[in-house]
Parts: sequence; structure tokens; C-alpha cells
Amino acid sequence: MTIGDLVRKWNESNSSEKRLDVFNPSNQELLGTLNLTDKIELAVKTAKTHLNTLTPPKRAEILGKASLLLREKIEEISRIITLENGKPLKEAKGEVFYCAEYLEWYGEEAKRIYGEILPEWDPKLDLKVYLEPIGVVGVITPWNFPLSMLGRKVGAAIAAGCPCVAKPAPETPFSALFFEEILKEAGLPDGYFKVIISDAEITGDVFCKNKIVRKISFTGSTEVGRILSSKADLKKLTMELGGNAPALVLSDCEMSVFKECGAFGKFRNAGQACTAINRYIVEETRAKEATEILLEASKNIKVGDGFNADSTIGPLITEESLNRIIALIEDATSKGAKILSGEVKHHGQFLEPVVLDGVTPSMRIFNEEIFGPVVSIIRAKSDEEVLTLANQTDYGLAAYVFSKHQGQKFAKRLDFGMVGINMVYLALVQAPFGGIKNSGFGREGGREGVREFLKIKYVGEVS
Ligand code: ADP
Repeated sequence: MTIGDLVRKWNESNSSEKRLDVFNPSNQELLGTLNLTDKIELAVKTAKTHLNTLTPPKRAEILGKASLLLREKIEEISRIITLENGKPLKEAKGEVFYCAEYLEWYGEEAKRIYGEILPEWDPKLDLKVYLEPIGVVGVITPWNFPLSMLGRKVGAAIAAGCPCVAKPAPETPFSALFFEEILKEAGLPDGYFKVIISDAEITGDVFCKNKIVRKISFTGSTEVGRILSSKADLKKLTMELGGNAPALVLSDCEMSVFKECGAFGKFRNAGQACTAINRYIVEETRAKEATEILLEASKNIKVGDGFNADSTIGPLITEESLNRIIALIEDATSKGAKILSGEVKHHGQFLEPVVLDGVTPSMRIFNEEIFGPVVSIIRAKSDEEVLTLANQTDYGLAAYVFSKHQGQKFAKRLDFGMVGINMVYLALVQAPFGGIKNSGFGREGGREGVREFLKIKYVGEVS
């Protein structure tokens, strides 16, 4: 299926005065125009009719099939991701595999949702704990991983037995529409999962106010997370929000390990990831080596259209995003940071990597999520100061420690939901992904990912 097919299909069943134009961030070409729907309440009502209709093995079968279908159609779907998001095709394919892995994992978990029988204190007492699907789920996803963020949420929800209505980001609606087709082809009844292309605020309000929606699973900015949390009254929420990930380069850092993955933790998806390294905090005796490694890695980055085989990073998602990042760099240099990578170069929405040294906590770039290919280096006088600076943020998603012997010790003292020691890839299907503080709450992936969509019912009986 192509974007043209998806547009035609959507517009045939959704007519509206209001429309959404979707552009390729690489060249600003119009990819398609979708009519905005006002049938959000209807989608929610329809979803409710599917609650408790699929047995766990059936849910497992559907998710397993969907996982296989994604792998089979990888060329089609990765092309759509690259067109609407801009990331290199190779990374788009990685995202498709990643999404397929989640669906497979959750499909297996669907069969292993166990309740409990509690110890009997009196032979006449029978105490049971049931885990039941929480109900209809409202899903809101961002543009940076347009397919996998959806798969990570919806896969878990379906495993738990929850029908969903999902609103993708306006920049990347096509991966979501494709995903809906995949789930239907895998055997999911029509309406069990429905993508909504509509106004963000209106959709968010329906998810918050409509009583049928029992849970909202959101990935996006802390700002929007706050709005939804305040409107959602007492609904159950999962909030995967912004990050300000530090990479702690300690005095006993194994530089060969840092060289292997330290820069990858920055540049994947052009730095547009909530787990991307936002601050390299380096113990001063290792600063020279670390800086050279990061500078060399940034020189090796090839910025270009995602369909060019040699591009390693694509464009930024919008011009607004580019301008925001340039403002962060200007703020840092005005307060004393030095650009090591030469003149800041950008064309269209492409930004060449920038390496900034001498960043301090007084600069915006220390405190705000960059979401772009900018390496920000902070020098600290000791390992202890590295740690203090790392924790000096209101965010708490991911942190990384580069150290030969002190990884576990520092991980214990880091105020973050996830810590990678000598590794930068934390989003694994079997692991509970998520943050604390302003990075949100709730977990995706692992056993915890499915639990987020289950409610506990305790039943006591006297015989
Ligand atoms: P970003 O700045 O990375 O685009 P956002 O938090 O603005 O992050 O967007 C993430 C998702 O939240 C997108 O699908 C977007 O359309 C949606 N969104 C934005 N504003 C609202 C809102 N007021 N209510 C509900 N969803 C929203």
C-alpha cells in the first residue's frame, strides 16, 4: 500500500471541510491531504462493543500474524516512514522490525496474564484476584517513531484485551493508517483498533471526557502531558514524556566502548528521540579523548535525504524544530560555550551535526531537550560532580554511564527510570521503558507494559 492508497481509502469514508496537509520533511513536497474526521465519539463507542470479545489465544494469534505481516511488508512500510518522517530508510526498516518484535512479544504475553489465589486464613474463605482489561484505551503518539510508538502501546493494549482508538501526530499519519490495515489483515475485527485523524485538542478532550475511555496512553512533550493529565480527571494514564538524558563519562571510562556507541546515543533519528543523549558530562581528565571521539563521529555523519543510501541522518521534522535548536545553540554560545565543529550549517530542514563544548547549567541547552544533532559537552572536576550535574534536571527518563568498574554504583544513585551502563540502547521488548519526574510515569514493554492495561479485581467469598 502506498500513501496515495491510504489517502484515498481514508478520504472515501471521512468527509470534512477541515483538512490536514502532510509534507515530506526532506523536500517539503506535499505527500497527501487527509480530511479530518469528527467521528471520534463513534470510534470510541464502536471500540467498546469489542471489549471482551477476543480470547487470549485469539489475541495472541492476531498479534503474531501482524508481526509477521509487518516483516513481510517491510519495504512498503519503511518507505512510508521515510517519506513522512525523513529518517534514513535503514533506520525506518529498523523501526519496522522493532515494532514487529513488540507485537510478537505482546502476543506471547497475552497468553500469560495470570490472576492469583490468595492464602486462605480460614478454610471457608476463598480469595481471588482477577486481572481484567481496563476498557477502551485512547492512544496519542508522536512523529519521531511513528510506527513503533503505536505498536508498543497498541500491542500491549490488545494483548490485555483492550480495544483502542489512536491519534497519531499530524506530521506522520500514514504509518498509523498502514498499521491499522496490518492489524485488520491479521484478523483484528474492524473497529477494535481505529486510527483517528483529527484535531489534537478535540481528540484529547474526547479521550479525557468520554467515560467509555478508561485509559489514555500518551507519548509526547511534557507540556501536552501536563494538559492531558489535568483534564483526564481520575482516568488511568501512561505518560511517556520528554527527557534530558545525561551520558556520564567517568574517570575509568573504557574509551573503546564509548567510541563504539557513545555517539550513536546522540545521532540516531537525527537526535530526535526522548532517550537521545542530551548532555555528555565528562570527568575532566577524560575530556580531551571524549571530545575527540564525539567530534570525529559527528564529522562522519552524512546528512541527507533518507532515500540516499549514504545518508546517516535525515532532516529535522519541521522548520520550527530547526529554529528552536538554532536558538538553543545561540543561547549557549552567548553564555560562553564553544562550537568545535565549525560554522553551524543548515539547508532546508537539514542541520549538520554541531559539537558544543563548555556547556554549563546556566544555558538553556543544559536544561531543555534538544531533539536534534547537537552534541553538548559539560566538563566536571570529579566523578562525583559528574553525578551531581547528571541529576540536576527535572526530567528522569534515561541516563547512560560509561565506566569500567563504577557503573552499578552510579546507576543506583541516578534519578532516572532507565540507566544504560556501557550501552545506549534501552528500548528492548522485554524491558520496562519509562521515566520518572517530568518524564512521566507508567511503563511500556516487558511484563509491566501489559499490566498498564489491566485492572485488578479482588473477589472474596465465604462458603
Ligand atoms: P512534539 O512537540 O514532539 O510534537 P507534542 O506533545 O506536541 O510533541 O505531540 C505529541 C502528540 O500529542 C501528537 O500526536 C500531537 O498531535 C498530540 N497533541 C498535541 N497537543 C495536544 C492536546 N492539546 N491534546 C491532545 N493531544 C495533543
